[in-house]
Amino acid sequence: MSIKNSLNNIKSKLPNNVTLVAVSKTKPIPEIMEAYEAGQRVFGENKIQEMAAKYEEMPKDIEWHMIGHIQRNKVKYMASFVSLIHAVDSLKLLKEINKQALKNNRTISCLLQVKIADEDSKFGLPEEDVLQLLVSEEFTSLQNIKIEGLMGMATFTNDEAQLIQEFQKLNTLYNTLKNKYNLSTLSMGMSGDYPLAITNGSNMVRVGSAIFGERNYSK
Ligand SMILES: *Cc1c(COP(=O)(O)O)cnc(C)c1O
Repeated sequence: MSIKNSLNNIKSKLPNNVTLVAVSKTKPIPEIMEAYEAGQRVFGENKIQEMAAKYEEMPKDIEWHMIGHIQRNKVKYMASFVSLIHAVDSLKLLKEINKQALKNNRTISCLLQVKIADEDSKFGLPEEDVLQLLVSEEFTSLQNIKIEGLMGMATFTNDEAQLIQEFQKLNTLYNTLKNKYNLSTLSMGMSGDYPLAITNGSNMVRVGSAIFGERNYSK
């Protein structure tokens, strides 16, 4: 299927309240432009310098989301333009984002990544630490960031019961915090599991290979 058809096919299945982040990491600009021409405006990348290079080259009405793990010393390369940072998992990182946001005279929207998978390799804050962070004075003193919601990555498995359990865990946490902390975004679900993530509360899905095809990392 063409990129355009894959994209339209996925979009036709998404409820109205769900935002589609087209994950374009490793993909060349002409392929991303195909999705752009088909109407897609929100793209996700997992490497800051790759995202910055694409930002420079591509139309300026694109919303760029950083979905990958972040090294603090690279925040400066995206601070002027990034529209949402998904994988924030420490106060140290929030402080650096705040500092760079201030330098650029803007507020940067972030999601806190929560660890829901049972794999060690997945980053994220333990569930118990999320509230602690939100109430800490160090956090509330940061004026140039806004926590818009939570993000999670489920275990890489076909076990539907386990996926549901992990998505539900994050959805429950999100619902407990939503009103008090003014959250509006729950980012969970990728190509393999986004329909299930949506059924379990997600309103932002990050879909790459189902739109652009498999990624080739060996190139
Ligand atoms: C690559 C990536 C995705 C998209 O993965 P697909 O399986 O290709 O849809 C989603 N979220 C994050 C954090 C990613 O790194």
